[in-house]
Amino acid sequence: MSLFLTTVSVEEAIRAARTLATPLPSEELPLSAAYGRILAADIRADIDIPGFNRSSVDGYAVRSRDTAGASETMPAILGLSGHVAMGDSGYRNLLPDRCLYVPTGGAVPDGADAVVMVEHTESIGGDILVKKPAATGDNVVARGEDFRAGSVILSGGTRISPREIAALAATGTTTVPVVTRPRVGIVSTGNELIPVEDIPSGNQVRDSNSWMCGAFLIEQGCIPEYYGITGDDRTLLREVLGKALSRCNAVIVSGGSSKDDRDMTADLIREAGEVLVHGIALTPGKPTIIGRANGIPVLGLPGHPASAFVVLLVIARPLLSRMTGQKDQELVTKSFVLGENIPSARGREDYVRVRISEGKVYPEFGKSGLVNTLIRSDGLSRVPSGVEGLEEGDRVEVILW
Ligand code: AMP
Ligand code: MG
Repeated sequence: MSLFLTTVSVEEAIRAARTLATPLPSEELPLSAAYGRILAADIRADIDIPGFNRSSVDGYAVRSRDTAGASETMPAILGLSGHVAMGDSGYRNLLPDRCLYVPTGGAVPDGADAVVMVEHTESIGGDILVKKPAATGDNVVARGEDFRAGSVILSGGTRISPREIAALAATGTTTVPVVTRPRVGIVSTGNELIPVEDIPSGNQVRDSNSWMCGAFLIEQGCIPEYYGITGDDRTLLREVLGKALSRCNAVIVSGGSSKDDRDMTADLIREAGEVLVHGIALTPGKPTIIGRANGIPVLGLPGHPASAFVVLLVIARPLLSRMTGQKDQELVTKSFVLGENIPSARGREDYVRVRISEGKVYPEFGKSGLVNTLIRSDGLSRVPSGVEGLEEGDRVEVILW
């Protein structure tokens, strides 16, 4: 067996990862619990919303043609027919040359097609002087203008933010169909790893990847399940992996993903399934495994924390979004001018941690085993595989943290 990994492009790796993911079933949740979840189906408006022509100001409902040519000096004089109270649905028909007081949110009566703001009127005796002409539709939210009965207001795959909650509430969606959250197991492997509460001695390293992966999974709408630390021991790892596979929808194994006689993750995946990718033309993140065991997707991350994070972002994210049912989303990037050269090798995609200072981007070079670059940097800049680095003054896209 070769000691070197055969790498595939980032694009191929993402494609492979996505083929492994199977969408999860949906569940129904009360509106109060739907925040942050992914809609499992399209949502339609039950009725026209608003269900009546609604005034958006305090003012007088008028027939706009009765106000034609009105001005400060030559106001239109309209007889006041009464007041509409909030919640009042007695849509009185407005007669010509008359008006009706309507508060903000009140129903505009039949016959009226506009509302003149109180500020543009004067009340004299039983009459209202309108000092500004109104056009059809002025200050009126028409019936069904917000949402038409039966129309799709939100499509399946949408992440439910407070804004979507408003739309769901407005359309009477008390029970929301959402995609079940995938349970994703996390296993950290390495003889040198110790729990975070312990103090390292000798060559020991605290397991930070389990917790980084867990937080990332929560961010992606998954439920992390922690399977702790396993030494570089084939039998133990097989046992823990088996347990995780039996309970989870996907498993992430951190560490032990390169080709080394201690790195048995790929072998164990192969025993229970297949390895689709072992090695990606990606820096950092080359020793990555994408496979399936017992029908469950398994991702093997390199142990170096910064490498692991890049693989989570670039490879795990598209795989997980297929499982969570979230619509494909490009990573949000922002364009900046590069303040310093970034060298890179052709044929691999580089994700460089960068810092932003005075509107310019600077690479935060540091070994991928260092956690400090993850918190010192503001984001990642991608150097495409076809170029030999980027030069000072180039415009670059930054995936901001
Ligand atoms: P490996 O991918 O197993 O060859 O590990 C590469 C480097 O990452 C080594 O220096 C490990 O000590 C470190 N490492 C591996 N797993 C973790 C982890 N869970 N948390 C922090 N560092 C780790
Ligand atoms: Mg290791």
